[in-house]
Amino acid sequence: MTANPLAPEWLSRPDDANDLPRAVWPTNSARSGTGELELAGVPASGLVRSFGTPLYVVDERDARGRARAFREAFERETARIGSGVTVYYAAKAFLSAAVAEWMAAEGLSLDVCSAGEFAVARAAGVAPARMGYHGNNKSVAEIDEAVEAGVGAIVVDSPIEVERIAAAAERHGRVQAVRLRVNSGVHAHTHDFLATAHEDQKFGIGLSEAPGVVASIRSHPSLRFLGLHCHIGSQIFGSDGFSESAARLLALHADLLAGGDIPELNLGGGFGIAYTTADDPTPVDELARRIADIVSSECERLGIPVPRLAFEPGRVIIGPSAVTLYTVGTIKPVTVSIAEAVVDARTPDEQPAPNERPAPGHPEPATAVRTYVSVDGGMSDNARPALYGADYTVRLANRVSAAEPALVRVAGKHCESGDIVVYADYLPGDVQPGDTLAVAATGAYCWSLSSNYNYLGRPAVVAVSNGEARLIMRGESIDDLLARDPGIASATRRATTAEPTVAAPTPAPAAQRAS
Ligand SMILES: *Cc1c(COP(=O)(O)O)cnc(C)c1O
Repeated sequence: MTANPLAPEWLSRPDDANDLPRAVWPTNSARSGTGELELAGVPASGLVRSFGTPLYVVDERDARGRARAFREAFERETARIGSGVTVYYAAKAFLSAAVAEWMAAEGLSLDVCSAGEFAVARAAGVAPARMGYHGNNKSVAEIDEAVEAGVGAIVVDSPIEVERIAAAAERHGRVQAVRLRVNSGVHAHTHDFLATAHEDQKFGIGLSEAPGVVASIRSHPSLRFLGLHCHIGSQIFGSDGFSESAARLLALHADLLAGGDIPELNLGGGFGIAYTTADDPTPVDELARRIADIVSSECERLGIPVPRLAFEPGRVIIGPSAVTLYTVGTIKPVTVSIAEAVVDARTPDEQPAPNERPAPGHPEPATAVRTYVSVDGGMSDNARPALYGADYTVRLANRVSAAEPALVRVAGKHCESGDIVVYADYLPGDVQPGDTLAVAATGAYCWSLSSNYNYLGRPAVVAVSNGEARLIMRGESIDDLLARDPGIASATRRATTAEPTVAAPTPAPAAQRAS
C-alpha cells in the first residue's frame, strides 16, 4: 500500500495502529485481554458507560509519580551543588481539589495566578504559605486577600505592584516575601531559543530596569526580597534555554547581592512533553543535572553562593497523565488537492512547495483522500490544535483492529473549520461511527482552556487508579448552561405565568400586574 501523500513528514506509518507508545500514553495504560484500552485497570468501555464522552481521564498514580520524580530529581541535583529546591506545580495547567491534594501530598508547592485558582487551592487544604502568586495584572483585591491569608510569595511583575503589595502588607501587619519577574530576553521554543536584549512581551521587567525595582522593594520594611524569577516559554525540549536564562539571571543576581541577601532564584516552568512519538523531550533527571551544573559553574565563576532554586512545572507533571475519550459520529473521505492541502497549521513553511503544483497544461492537480473522523467534542475541550497548531496522538479505545492503518484527521463538532483535535495520525482503516477514540497527553491546558463554544458543556474529569474511577470534576449539563442566562429564567417564568392570562377572556388588572 502506498503512503498517503497528505501525511506530514514527521509521522511514520505504524505497523500496528493499535500500539500505545510508552512515551506518549499514561504509564498505567494498556490493552486488555479483549483489546480495548484500559487506564489504570479501568476499561474504556466502562468509563464511557458511566460518564459518557467527551471525558478526560487522569491516571492518578502517573500524575503523582511525575510530581514526585520531578521533585526528587531536582532535590538530588541541587543538593549535589550545595543548595536546595522548591517545586511549585503550575495550577493553570489543570487544577481541581484532587489535583491540588495530590501535588501537596507529593511535596510540591503550588503556583496560582487568580482569586479563583487561589480559592480552589485553599478549599483543597493547601496552606497559603505553600503558594506562589503570579500574574501581570493581579487586582488590588487579589493582592490584599493573598497577603492577608499569608501567601508564601508574590511575584512582582511591574513597578506599580511594589507599592500595592507593600501597602497590603502594612495593612495586615505582615512582611510579605516577593520575587521579581524579569524578562531575561530568552524565549525558548520547542527545539531552540531566541535571546534578545529587549523582548516585546507583557511579562516581567527588563534586566536593566531590575536593579531600580529591587531597590524599591528593599526600601519597604513590609517586603522581603526573595530573588529573581523568569519563565522563558513552554513545551521546551532541551536545557539550553534554561542555561542561557540562568546565566543571565545569575549575573544580575550577583550584582544585586551588593544591596543585601538574596536567598533564591526561580527559573519558572516550561518543560516539554511528548505529544507524538516525534517529540523528544530531555528526561527530567537529565534536565535537573544540566541546570544544576550551569548554576553551579556560573556561581563559581561569579564568586557567589549558590542560591536555593525554584521551578514551576505544569505541563510536564499533568500533561502526559490524562487522555480524552471521544465517540466517533461521522466519517467522511475528502478528496483534496495535494498542493493546497493544509498539512499542519503549525508549519506553513513545511506546506507543499509551489513546484509540487501541476505544470501548466496539466489537466488536474494531483489529489489524495483525507479521512475526516468527527468526534463529539473538539476545540471546546482542547483548544491547543486551533490555538497553536499542536499535534496529538489518537488510538481506537474500545477495540483493536487488524485493518490496514489509514491516515486520518480527527475533527470536532464545532462550527469552525479550524476545529481539529488531531491533525494527522493513523487509525485502523475500519474505524466506524460509535467507536471510542482516545487522544493522549491531554492533561495540561485542555480542561483549563475549555469553553462553552456552541453551548457544549465542559466535559467531566475522572481520576483512575487501581481499577477504580472517581469523578474529580463534574461535567456541565445543558441545564447548567441555561441556568446562567437570566433571560432564559425570566422567559420560563413569563411562559408559565402567561397561561392563565391567555385562558381567561377578561384578565383582571391585578392579575396582569402580578405577572
Ligand atoms: C505557565 C507558567 C508556568 C508553567 O508552564 P509549563 O509549560 O506548564 O511548565 C510556570 N510559570 C509561569 C510563570 C507560567 O506562566
